[in-house]
Amino acid sequence: MDKELLAMLVCPLCNGKLKYDREAQELRCHYDGLAYPIQEGIPVMLPEEARAMDADEKLPNSPGRTPGSSPGHSGGA
Ligand SMILES: [Zn+2]
Repeated sequence: MDKELLAMLVCPLCNGKLKYDREAQELRCHYDGLAYPIQEGIPVMLPEEARAMDADEKLPNSPGRTPGSSPGHSGGA
């Protein structure tokens, strides 16, 4: 996958950044809990084609649909 291409890709549902999983060949949106498949090097950015991730793969946080929402304190651990 081209890094520049990856940087352009966002989730079609929440417009959030996607995480590229090289081993699984998936682009994951943790907010929506969807993993978009990469088929022959082409990302399939269709929610109906995406795989629903397991609960433990998701983030417990609320979706980042509202730009400029205060993240509160970041960090943790
Ligand atoms: Zn999303």
